[in-house]
Amino acid sequence: MALETTSGSLLLTVLDAEHPEWRPLLAVIKEALREAERPQWARFVPTLEHSGRGGRPLLDGVVINATPRLVRRWVRHILGIATAAGTEVKPLARRVAEGWLDPLLLFESAVSQDVDRFHEVALVDRDYHGLLRGLASLIAMPMLQSCRRAWADRVPIDWAYGFCPICGGWPALAEMRGLDGARHLRCGCCGSDWRAGWLRCPFCGEGDHEKLGSLVSPDKLERETIEVCDRCSGYVKTMTTLRAIRPEHVVLQDLATVVLDIAALERGYRRPAAKGHEVAVSVVAESSRLRDLLGLRP
Ligand SMILES: [Zn+2]
Ligand SMILES: [Zn+2]
Repeated sequence: MALETTSGSLLLTVLDAEHPEWRPLLAVIKEALREAERPQWARFVPTLEHSGRGGRPLLDGVVINATPRLVRRWVRHILGIATAAGTEVKPLARRVAEGWLDPLLLFESAVSQDVDRFHEVALVDRDYHGLLRGLASLIAMPMLQSCRRAWADRVPIDWAYGFCPICGGWPALAEMRGLDGARHLRCGCCGSDWRAGWLRCPFCGEGDHEKLGSLVSPDKLERETIEVCDRCSGYVKTMTTLRAIRPEHVVLQDLATVVLDIAALERGYRRPAAKGHEVAVSVVAESSRLRDLLGLRP
């Protein structure tokens, strides 16, 4: 599929037709992408706390001032969509609906991409499968996509790390872009885009070409390859593109190339389990002057 020119909705339609088993997941991704368009999230984009020097993702240390009602609405909504799609999210959705779990807490751990804390907060086992695995990043997606829109120009131009300069996540894929074939890493969650050198593993920094290689899928005419590292056993799917994949579509492109993930896994390579870089994020209730004046609780 020549996806860089394909619109998001068309891509969703294609994925839906080719993989009916992904429908529940697609329903939730679609909702997260739609939500990311809502202007409220741009309003919640926090002030930057630092310049991103020294490999510190911009999201680290921020304080998000959010309207609790709107955040809770979003979390309840996405849990509702996931439940209606027939996924295993139902017990979690029920705990939220019955007031045992504050959606704001779930949101904060999701935006921090703190997988352990998200699991702890959500009271789910680490070894579950299916949709819940990606739920945290989908809950965080509207906020992270808005941060990326606001901060894309603030990323240090010499960012030389394998993890995302905005949110600290590992790249979902790489692009070999344009006529000069420059290598760009792309984050699936916030959509960001950063340059990277060819002969370096984004995960462990290995630069020895003896330890780096690529698995080429013969039926794809080398438009899609998998770069692998024998030091850390990590892999990155790489696509040849003329123009950048739209930030919102990286998550779809990642899904559309799952055949490459399978090929890599079959050969013993994997995506790192730990995240790229820790980020600490706090979410605080946005104070409303009117509420303050009336002495009402947020
Ligand atoms: Zn990111
Ligand atoms: Zn490596």
